[in-house]
Amino acid sequence: MKIEPLSVDFNDEQKRYLEGLAAGLKVNLGVQGQGSRAAAEPTGPDAIHLKAQDKVVASGRKLADQEKVKRELHPFDAYERLKEQARTDTPPSTADNFRWRYYGLFHVAPAQDSYMCRLRIPNGILKHWQLTGLADLADQLCGPYSHVTTRANLQLREIPPKHTVMLLEGLSDLGLTARGSGADNIRNVTGTPTAGIDPQELLDTRPYAREWHFHILNDRSLYGLPRKFNVAFDGAGRIAALEDTNDVAFSAVEVKDGFGAAPGVWFRLGLGGITGHKDFAKPTGIIVEPQHATEVADAIVRVFIETGDRTNRLKARLKYVLDSMGHDKFMEAVEARLGRKLARVPDEALQQRPESDRMAHIGVHQQKQQGLNWIGVVLPLGKLTTDQMRALAKIAADLGDGEIRLTVWQNLLLSGVRDDNVALACAAIEQIGLSVKASHIRAGLIACTGNAGCKFAASNTKRHAAEIGDWCESRVDVDTPLNIHLTGCHHSCAQHYISDIGLIGAKVPVGDGDDTVEGYHLFAGGGFGPQAEIGQEVYHDLKAEDAPRTVEKLLKAYLMHRASPDETFLS
Ligand code: SF4
Repeated sequence: MKIEPLSVDFNDEQKRYLEGLAAGLKVNLGVQGQGSRAAAEPTGPDAIHLKAQDKVVASGRKLADQEKVKRELHPFDAYERLKEQARTDTPPSTADNFRWRYYGLFHVAPAQDSYMCRLRIPNGILKHWQLTGLADLADQLCGPYSHVTTRANLQLREIPPKHTVMLLEGLSDLGLTARGSGADNIRNVTGTPTAGIDPQELLDTRPYAREWHFHILNDRSLYGLPRKFNVAFDGAGRIAALEDTNDVAFSAVEVKDGFGAAPGVWFRLGLGGITGHKDFAKPTGIIVEPQHATEVADAIVRVFIETGDRTNRLKARLKYVLDSMGHDKFMEAVEARLGRKLARVPDEALQQRPESDRMAHIGVHQQKQQGLNWIGVVLPLGKLTTDQMRALAKIAADLGDGEIRLTVWQNLLLSGVRDDNVALACAAIEQIGLSVKASHIRAGLIACTGNAGCKFAASNTKRHAAEIGDWCESRVDVDTPLNIHLTGCHHSCAQHYISDIGLIGAKVPVGDGDDTVEGYHLFAGGGFGPQAEIGQEVYHDLKAEDAPRTVEKLLKAYLMHRASPDETFLS
């Protein structure tokens, strides 16, 4: 895709607006302090729910070290200790580093001698004043930037121990929280980013994501699971939420008449997604009335609490419970907990779902509300400077509906932009060094944190992704949507298995000795949604410096040999 510069004639007032953005990003943005700074972060009741964990001890197997940490001192009973470490600017012990993840704080040494904070943003939607407030907090307490994650969330980095508590309390002042976003907890709730504004959606996911968010925040017995747990809601909008990569996938579907369930929109229930372990959420045949989603997800989590493995961290996710119990037996246990049977329908009872558009997260798109648009903003591998955060918040407030919507594609949308404000908003976005246009290569280029900030990474994923993008974009004219994902380690935060081309970090041996260089194993042919597929390894031990040329070759081979533009890497 060739990118044309914007060529719109603006009036004097509009020009002044653009000049103001460029000149005064830091000092001239009036939105700081606007809007209410909402109520403090909700906290759960005090009771510690460890009965299910006790069963493991009774079985005689050795608990994982992390389980011992949880039992020794519950993280939510250790806030004074965290405060003491902040007062003395002391890094955490290994045990406390696990504990503080319950507060969303990860000490990431040796990659960086500081904390990373992962927020919770239900359905990925922020108010403009929250984004402004986050930029101010980052400037005062963290590195002056944020990263949009592959779960439509934000991470702040380079937080010294002395700033941790101020940051957590500052988030509360903004009506935000990081509680439970790390360790063995239910993670940030993903939903369709265009919920409520999408012309093709079957269902607005926002109320369901919000209900689940507050439900899990406020029930202490839903923390301290055998392992982390992901839940996502997809309303069948134009931008995929990748719900089938989650432990619990709620996908909106339209049920036909005549199959024993009321016709209309339900959630189809999928279970056990964990693509780092090469599994998508599998259909259960069960459909759930949307208003019962929280109740059903709660029962699923509680059965997982009772049955999950607390002795082997590698086998502690829901997938492994399902593998050993079978879906049917697991769902029987869920239904026993609910006290009722859930509705089941055959596949033919479901209307075909509208398909997502792999470019709908970039550029200008009409909303279902007449005269309004969302604008997908391209971020360089998810990174935003604090100046850009404040400027985007101002654009959202001045020219949109005041909301910023994060996507799992490491970018964001400004919503509610009137037709007559679109050109100005796009120019304002360009003015702050971002873009509303991207080539097919750039639009689907995703990278996890990598070794610049994560100790697990074998390679500098963000840098190498940028190099692949820069090299290939000018040499290969890809005319169809495409995903290239780089992930630093087996945790697979950037989901390399489900992309057309996926690279997982590896130390690549060089010479005869023990020397290694940064590199990757390269996979191809992955997909998601209706094209869900796990990619296959094509290159083992590819040096990072060779990755751009190798990806170029693959792209050219694909373009040369495909039968039609509809043919994906997968086919
Ligand atoms: Fe870190 Fe691995 Fe996740 Fe990348 S995939 S951010 S290296 S844990």
